[in-house]
Amino acid sequence: MSQSKDFSKHPCFNKEAKGSCGRVHLPVAPKCNIQCNFCNRKYDCVNESRPGVTSAVLSPAQAVHYMDKVLAKEPRITVVGIAGPGDPMANADKTIDTMRRLNKKHPQLLFCLSTNGLGLPAHVDELAEVGVSHVTVTVNAVDPEISAGIYAWIRDGNVMYKGLEGAKLLLSRQLEGIRRCKELGMVVKVNTIVIPGVNEHHLEEIAKTMKALGVDVLNCMGLKPVAGTIYENIEEPQKAKLDAIRDTMEQHLPQMRHCQRCRADAVGLLTEDRTKEMAGCLSACSK
Ligand code: SF4
Ligand code: SF4
Repeated sequence: MSQSKDFSKHPCFNKEAKGSCGRVHLPVAPKCNIQCNFCNRKYDCVNESRPGVTSAVLSPAQAVHYMDKVLAKEPRITVVGIAGPGDPMANADKTIDTMRRLNKKHPQLLFCLSTNGLGLPAHVDELAEVGVSHVTVTVNAVDPEISAGIYAWIRDGNVMYKGLEGAKLLLSRQLEGIRRCKELGMVVKVNTIVIPGVNEHHLEEIAKTMKALGVDVLNCMGLKPVAGTIYENIEEPQKAKLDAIRDTMEQHLPQMRHCQRCRADAVGLLTEDRTKEMAGCLSACSK
């Protein structure tokens, strides 16, 4: 993978850039290949998103057209990410096609994606080839006994797995995918959703395992209880608690503390979001 791009221009991985370099999330990935027990699919993927539907889904060609309009309006965009509204690797053809087209047209941009990891090993080499340099994998446990309670099902191709079998498969793919990303020279962030009473006691194990794989940053995010899920009555972890967790995890890995939990169609600087302003343009480009 080419290292000639300026990695310091990614505002999520370099906090110093958050007021000068922006990101756009292209909503080209509607399907998901797993069912997290904290997710209600009426909303965006919480891998990277706060609840709130994306205002449209784009094809790869539409995404390129939309990107031209975004760059004309907001030339400070330095990062193109794909973060849903489902999982980018459950829509691998569209994700890779979009990245390939944009990398040809705008080679100065950084390409980033966020995934649950199930489909990562199968596509990681292609991702590197089309210029993806930053990958986020959501890992909520490194013990299948714990993750079996976090995921309702895992679908690999046409086969559906539940319980321990699904949890073991997902974990093996996450570990393999991250290991390969690092071999290819990518920058890897791990997102962990802190679920009180479920994985809270297990966070250091996750951090240690990720460190051993060479992960660059850990982003501990509090569960946002969503109506209609089994965690709807769990109390959302507050900032003070998350800060304390991050202080502990920092003994193992650098912590991301400025994540905005952006929507799958987010646009702008992290300090100056323009998602609402661009919604009409996004919608027009999707038709
Ligand atoms: Fe929802 Fe994302 Fe989990 Fe898929 S990976 S079920 S979209 S939170
Ligand atoms: Fe960056 Fe967090 Fe927004 Fe992703 S969700 S683009 S990591 S601030």
